[in-house]
Amino acid sequence: SGRRAVLIDGKAAAEGLDQAARAGALELTQTLGRPPCLAVVLAGEDPASQVYVRNKVRRTESAGMISVEHRLPASVSQDELLALIGRLNIDPVVDGILVQLPLPAGLDAQTVVQAIDPAKDVDGLTAASAGALVLGAPGLRPCTPAGCVYLARQALGDLTGRHVVVIGRSILVGKPAALLFLDADCTVSLAHSRTRDLPALARQADILIAAAGRPGMVKADWIRPGATVIDVGINRVARPDGSSALTGDADYEAALDIADFITPVPGGVGPMTIAMLLINTVRACARRAGLAIPA
Ligand code: NDP
Repeated sequence: SGRRAVLIDGKAAAEGLDQAARAGALELTQTLGRPPCLAVVLAGEDPASQVYVRNKVRRTESAGMISVEHRLPASVSQDELLALIGRLNIDPVVDGILVQLPLPAGLDAQTVVQAIDPAKDVDGLTAASAGALVLGAPGLRPCTPAGCVYLARQALGDLTGRHVVVIGRSILVGKPAALLFLDADCTVSLAHSRTRDLPALARQADILIAAAGRPGMVKADWIRPGATVIDVGINRVARPDGSSALTGDADYEAALDIADFITPVPGGVGPMTIAMLLINTVRACARRAGLAIPA
């Protein structure tokens, strides 16, 4: 047809959010006499986790906030890790606590994450934050799903009444994404590995959220002409020459001819996650101080 989808530029959107976080952080620094502060806990030597943590620390600091890194050996005990979370919970100048996942073998991520004070839960993963999301009450929302809603709004404006099909029901991405789109007055279908005739369901989506972690799963005939595709997948796939590349869950080239809007991988949802982390840190700091949310 010659018609090609418009790319949703997640890198540009994330830069805009970083700017907003920076402005909020500056305002809070002037009011409180100290910048907002994020504590990042990294246990073990997982190379991908080290890259993620380095990027989070760098972006936090360039938004004018303090980032304190707590590096622990892979041999750290569950009790030692819980003791650290306890100290960060009561530290008055720590506004946000992030535990980089996955944790080394032998440590129970659920127990550690649930020990975080919900007021400092900038990843939005505690039971209190999840409960607030279900209730529609104020709280810190999970970063990647919040990034998906932000990008969908950026492309489409008001989302009221749109049919959103979310593929994937993980605690981290799919399930909170469904709740956030519901909160935006969308009609939401939440699909997973047991969903019957997923291609037919996907074809009904005005907004298709692909978060299964399956490279190329979303084929051209899964997409309704004119739909918006938000591709959360980050998959490392081998190329014929032996090198590797990152791809999403959608068959991107094919989708370009059918969708109206699509997020590329990389450069779509990926950069939004840290941007939302910065926004959550600003919000956590303001809430803890009893101030209006500046960002
Ligand atoms: P999980 O593996 O925890 O969850 C995957 C979900 O997809 C499950 O609910 C699973 O269903 C469903 N699923 C798997 N295969 C199929 C299939 N063939 N058909 C239908 N549903 C299927 O992954 P995450 O949610 O943590 O992450 C999903 C993707 O998003 C990954 O590629 C990950 O790398 C990426 N990601 C990107 C982030 C970012 O952009 N910053 C952040 C986090 C994740 P069931 O429950 O039935 O098993």
